[in-house]
Amino acid sequence: LLIGVPTETAPAEKRVATVPDVVEKLRKLGFSVAVQSGAGDASNFADDAYRAAGADIVETASDIWARSDIVFKVRAPSPDEVALLRQGGTLIGFIWPAQNPELMKQLAAKMATVLAIDSLPRQLSRAQKMDALTSMAGVSGYRAVIEAANAFGRYFNGQITAAGKIPPAKVFIAGAGVAGLAAIGTAAGLGAIVRANDTRAEVADQVVSLGGEFVKVDYEEEGSGGGGYAKVMSEGFQAAQRAMYAQQAKECDIVITTALIPGKPAPRLITAEMVKSMKPGSVIVDMAAEQGGNCELTEPGQSVVKHGVTIIGYTDLASRLAKQSSTLYSNNLLRLTEELCKTKDGVIDVNMEDDAIRGLTVIKEGAITWPPPPPKLP
Ligand code: NAD
Repeated sequence: LLIGVPTETAPAEKRVATVPDVVEKLRKLGFSVAVQSGAGDASNFADDAYRAAGADIVETASDIWARSDIVFKVRAPSPDEVALLRQGGTLIGFIWPAQNPELMKQLAAKMATVLAIDSLPRQLSRAQKMDALTSMAGVSGYRAVIEAANAFGRYFNGQITAAGKIPPAKVFIAGAGVAGLAAIGTAAGLGAIVRANDTRAEVADQVVSLGGEFVKVDYEEEGSGGGGYAKVMSEGFQAAQRAMYAQQAKECDIVITTALIPGKPAPRLITAEMVKSMKPGSVIVDMAAEQGGNCELTEPGQSVVKHGVTIIGYTDLASRLAKQSSTLYSNNLLRLTEELCKTKDGVIDVNMEDDAIRGLTVIKEGAITWPPPPPKLP
């Protein structure tokens, strides 16, 4: 079968779904690969590198969509792209079926088979190698710290220089999931004093192992909502948490917020009052901007200065490190393709008996199969 990789069309999206190294590996599995001319330009993978890896370079989007048996994408397709998808074709990429019911209907009408990488059952240890949410969150957490450092007017690490003693920056990270932990490791690596908080007590040891200090909320309530994710906390907890965050906002120079609750708006953790209390020149990076923001003053997609504090609400942090994120993402898709093609003969078998494959198959030959039944108990 032919795997096709079109250029991403979402505004400012720099990633590409397959890099040249992965083209070679897909060909070893028996597939042919075609890449739209320029698809890798924004992430620094030239057409020639794809050619050298054995891909065909195809000039236009309509050609690549028409020729491909399987399309690899990063972002969910636009209506124009869905129109280009071949009747009965296969599409693999981010889809977010809960947020995109209209897209799901359009894809089903194409009799397509659609594998949504965002719907992978992440709790299966076998699925980790395919987990693009984790790899993209890791890149984003790193980039959030780099953005903060870029907007901040001082060093992160403490120094004693002939021109004076410089104290280390203090960084507070709200939410220590995949992105938060990546941010903790990056900020600690730059030499800052790092503190972090999460409603799930189980992450405290991970925070410490990455060089951070876990700051507890003075209120007994466990925050796990199942599957490693958070739940909405009680009013009492939220009040106690606000008091602690208010104190951290006053003391810290950088606040990076990553808190999310599946299926709910992002919890509001940083109020306008807290922003006002921060030192001039402080920086907030709100990684939850797209889900409504953890900070009251965030403007999604923008960097703004309010009360002397730079508030960064970029929603494309992974795309801002496009070479790295494209490499990791295309490795995740390669691992998925290996699972779909155990016979290594360039043909895929979407096996609905396999828990991992069942979970991410959201449309099978035109039939909507999302949401999946709960995974079988071992
Ligand atoms: P996420 O992006 O949904 O949430 C980010 C973090 O915000 C979470 O740690 C959450 O607890 C925290 N949070 C939510 N509300 C908060 C609040 N009010 N205050 C402070 N923090 C709050 O989560 P994620 O990073 O995608 O992953 C969450 C969990 O899933 C992690 O434990 C991760 O290790 C786990 N995970 C497991 C697997 C696996 O088992 N294979 C794979 C990937 C992720």
